[in-house]
Amino acid sequence: MVQARHTVVYNIPVHLVPAYRGRAVLVRTQDPTELVHALPDGEREKLAGVQLLSLSADVDALADWGYGVPVDLVMLSPATEFALLYRHAKLLDKHPVRVSIPALSELFKAVKVATALGFTVKLDVGQPDSATLAAMQSVLDFYLHHTSVSQPVEFFHTALLSFYHQAPATLWDVQEEDPAYVRYVTDDGRETIARRPVGTCVTGDLGSFVADLQKELLAERSECCECEFFAHCGGYFKWPRKDYGCSGVKTLFRTLGDASEALRHDLNTFTAARKETGR
Ligand code: SF4
Repeated sequence: MVQARHTVVYNIPVHLVPAYRGRAVLVRTQDPTELVHALPDGEREKLAGVQLLSLSADVDALADWGYGVPVDLVMLSPATEFALLYRHAKLLDKHPVRVSIPALSELFKAVKVATALGFTVKLDVGQPDSATLAAMQSVLDFYLHHTSVSQPVEFFHTALLSFYHQAPATLWDVQEEDPAYVRYVTDDGRETIARRPVGTCVTGDLGSFVADLQKELLAERSECCECEFFAHCGGYFKWPRKDYGCSGVKTLFRTLGDASEALRHDLNTFTAARKETGR
């Protein structure tokens, strides 16, 4: 589902497929059968992926369609929908599948089921409250330390790598929410930002939305000015509410930074030991 940095990917409802022909698209629908009809063989050249908005739909049509198309399963209620993931496991035979799970206080069980089934996971984060932050910390500890977890859990996975390689990627990119590169097209055809808190529809220059926000945050001497994680975050948690307090999310970043240091230390020790033994 990762898009080339210079390409704009449009997240469109399935009925807009004809209008966006020739452009890179992520096509969303409640009904897999609609997708199969809208995108027959030979119509998928610019397809970045598909997004299923309902875990209750019959997925057999998608399991028999195409090959290697990134599929994003959008979960709405982790507390009640985690059991629905089992019936989607068959998709993994043909497609890379990710589950997008809303960061709510009851998300842990859904993450455990998703990773156990072999799905990658993306947490839809927003501006988490304290109960959600506690759940995210549990997921982070699970992701870092549980030996059974072999699938990426985003944004933790990419942030960990970016700490390790000292090559920061902001959460706007990791979460696929920078409208310069990923544009959400509403059902009535308006382009806006992917993260859309209720009642929010960003318009104007979407190409400079993140850069403009960052300029404002720095000009206003916000918490971001002194934040050691700005290169990894990019002011992500200061939207839509600029007064959101970041002490909780900084703890998550700190845990990731410490884990990358521990990883570096372990790898250096391992490499030195191999050199010593000549193996
Ligand atoms: S963690 Fe908060 S203060 Fe730090 S860069 Fe992100 S939004 Fe700004």
